[in-house]
Amino acid sequence: MSEIQYGGVAAHTDRPLLRSMWRGFLCRCPNCGEGKLFGAFLKSVPSCSVCAEEFHHHRADDLPAYLVIMIVGHVVVAGFMGVEMTSGLGIWQHLAIWIPLTIIASVALLQPVKGAVIGLQWALRMHGFGGEKDVLESHPEL
Ligand SMILES: [Zn+2]
Repeated sequence: MSEIQYGGVAAHTDRPLLRSMWRGFLCRCPNCGEGKLFGAFLKSVPSCSVCAEEFHHHRADDLPAYLVIMIVGHVVVAGFMGVEMTSGLGIWQHLAIWIPLTIIASVALLQPVKGAVIGLQWALRMHGFGGEKDVLESHPEL
């Protein structure tokens, strides 16, 4: 693990945040970028098959779903408003366009966004990714 000191504060340089999140978004191991991050839809593997980095202690929880709602909501609402202002489509035509688009985009983005969240947690050494026990592992009563 390499560190750079900034006024007595150590910053880890071996886990670049954006690279880790991008590798996770591509559903690849944030450490090596080669191994698969998911064994099934939304089910992360316990460890990387290439570099053996462990992923069982990630805690993505509901964050990927919140982020997908935010992303898809902004795109769909902006798209709807743009089409509504420039065309004369009826309400059923809008529903036929925007409801399937919302469902498809949400399902398509959920796993890559979860991978990016796991990459973020790995890069920031959260929840046991830094080698120490997570607070929930050391205090199961919480
Ligand atoms: Zn790996």
